[in-house]
Amino acid sequence: MKGIRGKISIIFFIIVLLFNFSSCSKKSVERTKQDGMVFYEVFVRAFYDSDGDGIGDLKGLTQKLPYIKSLGVNGIWLMPVFKSPSYHGYDVSDYYNINPEYGTNEDFENFINKAHELGIKVILDLVVNHTSSKHPWFLNADSSPKSKYRDYYIWATQDTKLNEPSALGTKQWYNKGSGFYNAIFWSEMPDLNFDNKKVRKEIKKIAKYWLDKGVDGFRLDAAMHIYQPNRVQDTLNWWKEFGDYCRSIKKDVYLVGEVWSSERAIAPYLKYLDSCFNFKLAEGIIDAVIKGDSSKLQYNLPFIYDEYKNSYKDYVDAPFLTNHDMDRVMSKIDDVNKMKLAASILLTMPGNPFIYYGEEIGMKGEKPDEYIREPFKWGKEYVPGQTKWIDSEYNVGDYAPSVEEQDNDPKSLLNFYRDMIKFRLGNDILSKGDITIIETQPEILAYYRAINNDKLFIVHNLTGNLVNTELKLDQNDKLKGETLKGDGIVRIEDNKIKINLKPYSTVIIK
Ligand code: CA
Repeated sequence: MKGIRGKISIIFFIIVLLFNFSSCSKKSVERTKQDGMVFYEVFVRAFYDSDGDGIGDLKGLTQKLPYIKSLGVNGIWLMPVFKSPSYHGYDVSDYYNINPEYGTNEDFENFINKAHELGIKVILDLVVNHTSSKHPWFLNADSSPKSKYRDYYIWATQDTKLNEPSALGTKQWYNKGSGFYNAIFWSEMPDLNFDNKKVRKEIKKIAKYWLDKGVDGFRLDAAMHIYQPNRVQDTLNWWKEFGDYCRSIKKDVYLVGEVWSSERAIAPYLKYLDSCFNFKLAEGIIDAVIKGDSSKLQYNLPFIYDEYKNSYKDYVDAPFLTNHDMDRVMSKIDDVNKMKLAASILLTMPGNPFIYYGEEIGMKGEKPDEYIREPFKWGKEYVPGQTKWIDSEYNVGDYAPSVEEQDNDPKSLLNFYRDMIKFRLGNDILSKGDITIIETQPEILAYYRAINNDKLFIVHNLTGNLVNTELKLDQNDKLKGETLKGDGIVRIEDNKIKINLKPYSTVIIK
């Protein structure tokens, strides 16, 4: 009897082993390239108020969809809209309900349907590295070491060095009574425990809930912090699992990660996420425009793109200038012509560019965070619908850019953005092509964009002076010399590209 039992259990063991092996070797869900988009990042609280309480809301945002459509963008990234005790929402207390200050789940569904009718995709900020300390999971977990939610979070053991700072340099262990929990960003944002399969299941359930409501993708907050830095591979494995899951529900879902780090650290994420924000490019564009010198950008860009390409051939970059965590680009650049140049560089770069609300009218703002998230300026003075969630410090008085003033002015920054976005999305090479940086003198920035043999040549004058120069034309470059756009002259002559550019201008030829 013993012998037979032994054999049966061995056979059973082998079956289990085979079953596990086949499920482990299951191929990733096929990915399709999610390119050809331009996104507008919106802070709902600051955008448009429909009911006069001074706080931006989803009904207001829905009313203003025609404005967003007028920019020419085909995507919206909504900063967090779920229930949260904070004004910004990066600490979620209920992942299934819209913040009541912004409206109801029905308002959200109405918004997304209207956006889709206009051909605009919507991605949501998904903040899952941590929850709010007011989330029922945490309240329950902290109520007792025996709570069934205890293991949703990370608790110190006897060996934990409670004073050791996090990888961010922050204090990371806090105690509200029942033990020390891990929270790398803030005491009120306890980190979730992704070693717990139940947590992973909960997060996927949340994603499914919103994808089923029509959401087109997610911007993944703090994507590199899921595990401690010595467990990068575990973090990547989680995003693989999450990416595969989302694609199994919606095959063209768009996932863009916030991996605020070097290109080397970002690159492996591109195997599993469609895009990651290109922080180094953002900094590089602004720096080049301020200094009138492209040398650093010329040097850095090929390294960044090579690193990305080596990780995942079909990666889609996510370029931007500044976002809700950074001083506004106009505060740094402080000149409308230079601002147009920065926009021009951004909107001729490969990938899906992101524009932070207010950038298109030149809103300013410096930290603390509230002041880089000021009420969007519909009118120079107060106009109905303008939010009052905070008193503006940077976009009032002498400097008060507004849609009202710029809407019908053909030379305005707003119309410059509209024109460039429209041009970009109307040109496949510009919106979907590859890039090759050309080595030039630092006063200009030049590159090819290409799909196979179809090429565009793009050159920017980074200075306030006229630039006359010439570049050697590669024999293989079958450029016709036809100007598609720009303020200046670029001619093809005797195997040379002859360039004559006005201050801060851009020329695109094919
Ligand atoms: Ca309101």
